[in-house]
Amino acid sequence: ALPAGLAGHAGAEWLDRYTHALLPTYGVPQRALVRGDGAYVWDADGRRYLDLLGGIATNVLGHAHPTLVGAVSAQLATLGHVSNFFASPQQVALAERLLALLEAPQGSRVFLANSGAEANEGAFKVARRTGRPRILALQGAFHGRTMGALALTHKPDYREPFAPLPGGVEHVPAGDLGALEAALDGDVAALFVEVIQGEAGVRPLPEGYLAAARELTASVGALLVVDEVQTGVGRTGHWFAHTRHGVVPDVVTVAKGLGGGIPVGAMVTLGERASGLLGAGQHGTTFGGNPVASAAALATLHVIERDGLLDNVSSVGRRLAEGAPAAGGSLVTDVRGEGLLLGLHLARPRAKELTAAALEAGFIVNAVGPDTVRLAPPLILTADQADSFLAALPQLVQTAEPDEES
Ligand code: PMP
Repeated sequence: ALPAGLAGHAGAEWLDRYTHALLPTYGVPQRALVRGDGAYVWDADGRRYLDLLGGIATNVLGHAHPTLVGAVSAQLATLGHVSNFFASPQQVALAERLLALLEAPQGSRVFLANSGAEANEGAFKVARRTGRPRILALQGAFHGRTMGALALTHKPDYREPFAPLPGGVEHVPAGDLGALEAALDGDVAALFVEVIQGEAGVRPLPEGYLAAARELTASVGALLVVDEVQTGVGRTGHWFAHTRHGVVPDVVTVAKGLGGGIPVGAMVTLGERASGLLGAGQHGTTFGGNPVASAAALATLHVIERDGLLDNVSSVGRRLAEGAPAAGGSLVTDVRGEGLLLGLHLARPRAKELTAAALEAGFIVNAVGPDTVRLAPPLILTADQADSFLAALPQLVQTAEPDEES
């Protein structure tokens, strides 16, 4: 139930009040959501939606998962927040768990943050501390919206209004090893990559790129930073997307799914060299890894393992990836991605229309670019729930482009 004063208002009223009270940075919201349970959410007018976006790759356990609710409630009732001048058992256990999941080499360390951008800010600082002037990132990259992370992000609309950004960052074509090799020299501090570029339209790096990038960066002494903010914590059917490629990065950043919906992020420095770059007093954030956030992350990682969710991600993801082109007629030509991070690639630029049709029909997805619809559902999504979307897809396509033969 909603707290007194928040219940009993129509969705239209919330949307109207929203536009008068909040900055328009996220555009105009289409629904006010008031409740969630598992893979479903409900709007203020009582309509139910299958959440195939999971708060953008974040609610990995779905909504109101009893283990997460229990862990967060118990922690808040025991010790909520303490300053980072103190240690907490939850924070230590979380850092150790992350290092174990990453099979981190000797000397690796963790910095706990609140978001993906903030984890990447930490990685940016680590890169600067090498003393080298240049940083490489990939065209199409998204690493966040704070100024340092924005300097790493490639999209011109996001960057240009805020110039000048922190300097030294150059964007090389994604997936092009020749261009990477040509750009790398002893002045390069770090290369930032996403294994699958989520915001650019769910675009995986070509097979072999990451392993080659590891060798090339190592050969000039540059750090390899892998941004696992969207791909990490089981999303691809592996704990982290890069491990399947057999590489050990110097820095891995994590957020989104880590807390199962509670804000928590991490920057992990792998090995002695990367871990030696940020010293005492050189980075910090008030809430970073507080006991409640750390308890949420520990509970999330625990449930993923206990319930075998990585296998579920692989099997339900395959079902969606194989079923969508068949169900999507002539519009859905291809599915990119891995596990439960999927981009339905459209033959024509109808991603907005398809997303709107899906919402009307009770499915939450989103458009990443004009011709790609992203699915990043909770990792608990069942085969039946996936099938309900596939069954609806022919009609959604028809609504999205009524004049087209399908
Ligand atoms: N890196 C990647 C790869 C992301 O997808 C995102 C968020 N979409 C971020 C960083 C930024 O994370 P946050 O929104 O938590 O700052």
